[in-house]
Amino acid sequence: MNEIILHPKKEESIKRFHPWIFSGAIARKPESIASGDTVRVLSSGGDFLGIGHYGGGSIAVRLFSFADEPVDEQFWQRRLQQALNMRLRLNLISSATNVCRLVNGEGDLMPGLIVDYYNGAAVIQTHSTSMFLLRPLIARLLIENPALPITSVYDKSEKTLTIKNAADRIRLNPQDGYLVGNCSIPHTIREHDNLFEVNWEEGQKTGFFIDQRENRRLLQHYAADRDVLNMFCYTGGFSVYALRGNARSVCSVDASSKAIELTDRNVALNFPDAPHSAVVADAFEFLHNSDNCYDLIILDPPAFAKRRFALRQALQAYKRLNAKALDKIRSGGLLFTFSCSQVVPKESFREAVFSAAAIAGRYVRILHQMEQPADHPVNIFHPESEYLKGLVLWVE
Ligand code: SAH
Repeated sequence: MNEIILHPKKEESIKRFHPWIFSGAIARKPESIASGDTVRVLSSGGDFLGIGHYGGGSIAVRLFSFADEPVDEQFWQRRLQQALNMRLRLNLISSATNVCRLVNGEGDLMPGLIVDYYNGAAVIQTHSTSMFLLRPLIARLLIENPALPITSVYDKSEKTLTIKNAADRIRLNPQDGYLVGNCSIPHTIREHDNLFEVNWEEGQKTGFFIDQRENRRLLQHYAADRDVLNMFCYTGGFSVYALRGNARSVCSVDASSKAIELTDRNVALNFPDAPHSAVVADAFEFLHNSDNCYDLIILDPPAFAKRRFALRQALQAYKRLNAKALDKIRSGGLLFTFSCSQVVPKESFREAVFSAAAIAGRYVRILHQMEQPADHPVNIFHPESEYLKGLVLWVE
C-alpha cells in the first residue's frame, strides 16, 4: 500500500477522526501515486493515522479506517453489512416503506459512495475514483448480502464523478447503466404506504428525494383542511402526503415539465380524484404573479449554493423566496421551508428566514426544526455530512 506522510501538526484533525486530508497537509507521497489508490497515512513522526482513498484534488485523501488493517473484499463486506444492519435494526424498511438510503458516504464511513434502495433495486452514485473502481465489488456484495433481497444494481456515476484529467476520463469512461441485473422503469416504490414511480435512469439524483421522508410525514400530520402549495415539487412527494393528510386542495409547482408530469402520475397513483393541480413555472415568478393565498406552503428548492463562494448570494435567494412565500400565507398558516445546501449552515439559513419574516412583516413562530432522517446519518466527526435543514413556522 502507498504511504503518505503529513506535515508536522497536520495530524490533529485525523486524531479526532475527521475523514478528509487536504492537499496542503501532505509533505511526501510516492511519485507513482494515482487517483484511485488506497493509501496509508502517517504523521510527520511516522505514526500510523489511517487508511484512505487518494483522489488528488483539494481533498486529497478520504479516510475510511483509523485502524491498521487489511483493506480487502472482507473489509468492504463488513462496512456494507454494518450500514445495512443499522437500517434493518432501525426498521427503516418495512411493509409500509421499501425505499431507503443504504450507504450515505462519510456518514457510513464509506466516503464517496451513495447507495439507494428502491424496492429490490439498488442505485449507486460514486463521487471518487476509488469508489468508482470498487463498483463491481460493491454491486456483487449488495446482491450477495443475506439480509435484504436486491436483484439489480444500477450505476449512476456519470455526472457525480469529477475527473481531473483527460487520461483518467478515457481510463475510467463513466457511463450510467446496470452493473447487475435489470429493472423495468419506472419502478414503483412504497413510502409510508404512499406509492411513487421512480425513474433513476432519467430522474434527478438517484430518482427520488429519500431524505424528505420524515418531513413529509410531519407535513401530513398538519395538512388537514388546508389549501397547500408545494413549490419545487419534483416527484410530488409532499403533495401526495398532503392529500393523504386530507388537505382541502394541493397545488404543485416545478420549473420542469417532466417533474410536473411525474407529480400528476404519482398523485393519480394514490388518489384517482384528488383536489390537485400542477403548474410548470419558475417558483419566484409564480409567487410574484399569483394572487392566491394558501394555508400551508412548502419551499424545498435545489441547493442554491453548491460552493462556499456562492453562500452570500444563496442566502439572499433564500431570503427573497421565503419573504415572497410568507406574503401568500393566510393567518394561522404554516410554512415548511428547507435548505439542502451543505455549505449553508443551519444558523445562517435560520437568519435568512428571520429576515424574510421581517421583510414580509409577519409574526412567525418556529414549531419544528427539521433535518435529514436516520438513513442519512451524520458522522459526528464530519459535521460536513449534515446538509438538510428545515423549519416549520406558524404564521400569525
Ligand atoms: N421537494 C422535492 C425535491 C425538490 S428538488 C421532493 O420532496 O422530492 C428541486 C426541484 O426544484 C427540482 O424538481 C427542480 O426541477 C425544481 N426547480 C429548480 N429551480 C426551480 C425554479 N426556479 N422554480 C421552480 N422549480 C425549480
